[in-house]
Parts: sequence; structure tokens; C-alpha cells
Amino acid sequence: MKNTLICNTCGTTYFEDSHPETCTICLDERQWVPPAGQSWIKSEELHHKHSVKLNRLQDRLYEVEINPMFAIGQRALLVLSEKGNVLWDCIPLLDEMTIEFIKSKGGLKAIAFSHPHFYSNMNEWAEIFDCPVYIHKNDEEHIMIRGEYIQLWSGDETDLWDGMKLICIGGHFAGSSILHVPFLSKEGTIVCGDTLFLSPSKKHFSIVYSSPNRIPLPLAEIRRIKKRLDSVPFDSFYGYIKNQNLRKDVKEILETSMAKYV
Ligand SMILES: [Zn+2]
Ligand SMILES: [Zn+2]
Repeated sequence: MKNTLICNTCGTTYFEDSHPETCTICLDERQWVPPAGQSWIKSEELHHKHSVKLNRLQDRLYEVEINPMFAIGQRALLVLSEKGNVLWDCIPLLDEMTIEFIKSKGGLKAIAFSHPHFYSNMNEWAEIFDCPVYIHKNDEEHIMIRGEYIQLWSGDETDLWDGMKLICIGGHFAGSSILHVPFLSKEGTIVCGDTLFLSPSKKHFSIVYSSPNRIPLPLAEIRRIKKRLDSVPFDSFYGYIKNQNLRKDVKEILETSMAKYV
């Protein structure tokens, strides 16, 4: 693979010989460029300064995080399933220990994404695990390195295996999606990225165009998303960042949160 540079603010990876002056993902109004300007890190340096931490969240679900925190602080979630495992979103660091651990659990059958903020070094993950990367077609323009493993999907939802489904919710990005997993809890679990944002109190969900820049969505969008989520059965939620785990009163909290918008 060619030499790459990683954006320190969001974790997106670019080829060193053709990267933009400023990260395209961070220039978008949903992300941000630090006042001191753009900065990059090489993969070797990231490996040197940080490590990957794997945390078991529950039966058949692991959190994959960078320690100490890097970029947005994003985590990936590893869902272990009978017919093949899914990695939900990516982190821009992949070390030997993580590769060995995932391989010991049966490898990956697919990597799937909530939205462009977490594409990071997805092509490297896909190459190592020799699996497709599912990205919604609506977000195609935000793919910075179009690797051969990327498979665009389109429409409202698409079936994976073992009852798992990718559902396009929109809002934050036109292709913002969630993964519905029927076997992690009684009613089903949604793995969300930041399509839904769970507050630190764990008593409020927000749905926004940009969380760091506090840019709201039009009310019509909130109504549409709420209606779409009403049609999905779930009682557990996992978000894009550590501690955004909720396994109790999820629908009730979503209901009272959405009532505040309308
Ligand atoms: Zn960036
Ligand atoms: Zn985002």
C-alpha cells in the first residue's frame, strides 16, 4: 500500500502523494479545522503513540477504541454473528493484537459504516480481513480513497445475514445509516455511529446535522427520522463513542427526546 497521512482531527486517511492541503472531511461544515490549522500524522507515529483497546460490552459485542483517545474519539464495534462477523465503523489504527483477536473470533465478513466521519483507514482493514466495505451510495462523494473492497448499497435498507440489516436513516449525512442486530437483545439492538447522539446523562437523544458545530436539522427531517425509527424494533442502543451504551428505556427516552423537538 502507498504511504498515507492521517488527519489528526477526524482520522481520515489520504495518500501522502495526493492529499489535500486541508482535510476535505474536516472542511465540511459538519466537522471542523482547528484554529492552529490542519495537522497530519503518519501511521507509524500513530502506532508508536497510541494502541488499540478491545473491550467486551456484552455477549457477542466488542468495542474497539484507540488509547489514548485520537481524532473524534470514535470507536468501532465488533458484532460476532454465527454466519460471519461485522465491524461497524472503523478506527484509524489497526495493530497485530487486534488483527489476531478478530481472527480468533472468525475474522470479518464485512465492514459497514454509519457515515463518512469514520471511514479512516477502511481500505487497510478491508484488505487485511479480505471483506467488503458497505457504504451507502448517498455518501459516495465523501469517500477519499476508493479502494477495491468498497461496495455501495442504496435504498432504504439492505439485508446482511443472521437477520442483521443496514438501515439508511439520513439526517447527519444523506447516507447516515444504522445496523440493526436482532440477536443482541430481546427486541433488537441498533448500532448507530452518530446518527443518533446520546447525551452524557443518557436521558436524551439528539439528531443533528452537526454535533460539534451545533447545527440543527429542519423539523421536517426530525419528523421523518422519528417516523422511520418508530418502524424499527429495538430496546438497546450503541453510539459512536465510549459510554454511549443504553440498554434500558431506549424507546421511551427517544420518544421524550423527540417530543422536545416538535
Ligand atoms: Zn479531517
Ligand atoms: Zn459524524
